[in-house]
Amino acid sequence: MNIALIAHDSKKELMVQFCIAYCGVLSKHNLCATGTTGKMVAEATGLGVQRYLSGSQGGDQQISARISCNEIDLLLFFRDPISAKPHEPDQANLMRLCDVHNIPIATNIATAEALIHALERGDLDWRDIVNPTTAARQ
Ligand code: PGA
Repeated sequence: MNIALIAHDSKKELMVQFCIAYCGVLSKHNLCATGTTGKMVAEATGLGVQRYLSGSQGGDQQISARISCNEIDLLLFFRDPISAKPHEPDQANLMRLCDVHNIPIATNIATAEALIHALERGDLDWRDIVNPTTAARQ
């Protein structure tokens, strides 16, 4: 499955720790991420991560474009709920598009844990029917 990772600055270390903890599960899937998040995760875990631009440079919108085409099967987006971001409208659209396509999305680590276990159990396998190109690559 195609998994997208995005973390705001104050949540990047949490994302790295999460990806280290679940490296075994994540290694079975295709990962993509916004620039800095992807760099940090790839360096810490050794996982292959397709990196888009940094979020502030349009990386969120590159991921949004893939979500629009229903190509992303799971989005882990660790948001900072406290401080405002200049590219917040892009990120609101990103979450809206997940709802358009029923793409599972976690915006905090508690939901991410639940979804990663669901992924491991096969609860998200229905996505392979929605997005057969991803299934064919595995
Ligand atoms: P980044 O982008 O991973 O390049 O920092 C994330 C964000 O939208 O802030």
